Amino acid sequence: MALRRTHIASAEVIMMGYAISTNQPLPIIITETIGVWIGSQLPDIDQRQTRINKKTGIETSMFTLWGHRTWSHSIWIPALLFILARYSSNSPMLNGISVYGYKVMGYFYFTLALGYFLHELLDAFSVEGIRWLYPLGDRKIIRKKGIFRYKVHSMKEIMIRYVSIIFIVFELIFYLYKTLK
Ligand SMILES: [Zn+2]
Repeated sequence: MALRRTHIASAEVIMMGYAISTNQPLPIIITETIGVWIGSQLPDIDQRQTRINKKTGIETSMFTLWGHRTWSHSIWIPALLFILARYSSNSPMLNGISVYGYKVMGYFYFTLALGYFLHELLDAFSVEGIRWLYPLGDRKIIRKKGIFRYKVHSMKEIMIRYVSIIFIVFELIFYLYKTLK
């Protein structure tokens, strides 16, 4: 588990790069930013529950029964979220909110799934690895080498975070330049 901020920054930089390069309108970009912001934090909810449980001394959630990076870090959850997003974005009720004439909720659902997936992708590159197909396959697929392989809390993880933030700033400048031109 990379740190929360690294997850948010690395997921946002990818989403915003896509959104800006495909000329999406501002209300949609903002909605997607929120979707990715939430989605990229969701997988580590089990970890946060563990911390709460340690403080209170009681099992507050079923999440902790799973152990960290088991169910919460499998491919099944973002796959399910993606299916739900497809369903919800076609539903007149669940996709009913318009902002400046744009139906934004569909974008929210999809970026929630995307943020979740990007979180897992970043974790997959960590030394600790994840089990994509949990509970199938009893071994984590862990990268032995590679320039993207990093240790959590290491200098490299912090680099990933700051490089992401710098690129987000570039993307914003580029967006403003394109809009004001
Ligand atoms: Zn994680």
